[in-house]
Amino acid sequence: MATQETATRRTLRWLIRILVTVVVLALLAAFPLGPLFAWSPMHPGYSLAHFSRADVLYPDGTSLDSAYREIDRYVAVAESFHELKCSKKIEVVVCGNWNDCHRFAEPFLLGQRPLAVTVATGTVIFVTPRATGWADIGGLLRHELSHAVQSQNRSLLSVLRMLRQPWVSEGVAGVVAAQGVTVPGRYLASLPEREFLSRAKKEDLWQSFAVAQQKDWRFSYTAWMYFWNRQIERNGKPKFLQFEGACFTDPDECRSDFAAVYGADLRKTVEEFQADVRLGQVVPH
Ligand SMILES: [Zn+2]
Repeated sequence: MATQETATRRTLRWLIRILVTVVVLALLAAFPLGPLFAWSPMHPGYSLAHFSRADVLYPDGTSLDSAYREIDRYVAVAESFHELKCSKKIEVVVCGNWNDCHRFAEPFLLGQRPLAVTVATGTVIFVTPRATGWADIGGLLRHELSHAVQSQNRSLLSVLRMLRQPWVSEGVAGVVAAQGVTVPGRYLASLPEREFLSRAKKEDLWQSFAVAQQKDWRFSYTAWMYFWNRQIERNGKPKFLQFEGACFTDPDECRSDFAAVYGADLRKTVEEFQADVRLGQVVPH
């Protein structure tokens, strides 16, 4: 009986040892080869470009888009817009292909195929192959850095809750993205003004604000961006920052914060915005 018990214990001990080894090996591999790649000291297949506010990892043997070299300036643009400090250094990973992107960023892609994604810590940005050759990388970086600055100054819970308020977080990121000159032949994620106006005359803009799930993300994103441009133009930056601070602190209250800060119901304000759009203007002159 005693011998049988000792044998069982020995088997159990071996099983635990194997399990621990597997977990340790999986963790070690997750750093250079998996979802912890950005945090790894080793980056097989990738080169590192150092800047003072960020580091950029890009595939060996490829040339880095010149916009990445402006990243320190873009961090400053995002900081100045939000009047918040980005105190932690940022790691930008330019994925060489979708395979790498899934390996490194799968948990952060939320089942989608975006141009780029910022991790909720606000310290890592993944740029996907969808951005290559099409997106204005400067605009894309400014968009993601807007998220990064916010995330570095909020709790993880607030950042995750903000996912349900894209009319604020994505719209505002769109405003920051547009703070620069777009490279000829490259595009921002927002629609060109003329295209947006012709579509927005026929579509109900409130639909983009009413729910988090969007049927046409690019159209909604453009609507949010122009909406915030209009709010800042009409009511000033301090009021906007007051609203933004309140909303990001307690995302479930963003709609009532809007009413409290602006003294107007969100729906009514969106309807006024829609009326301006029908007159052919995104921001009243
Ligand atoms: Zn975004």
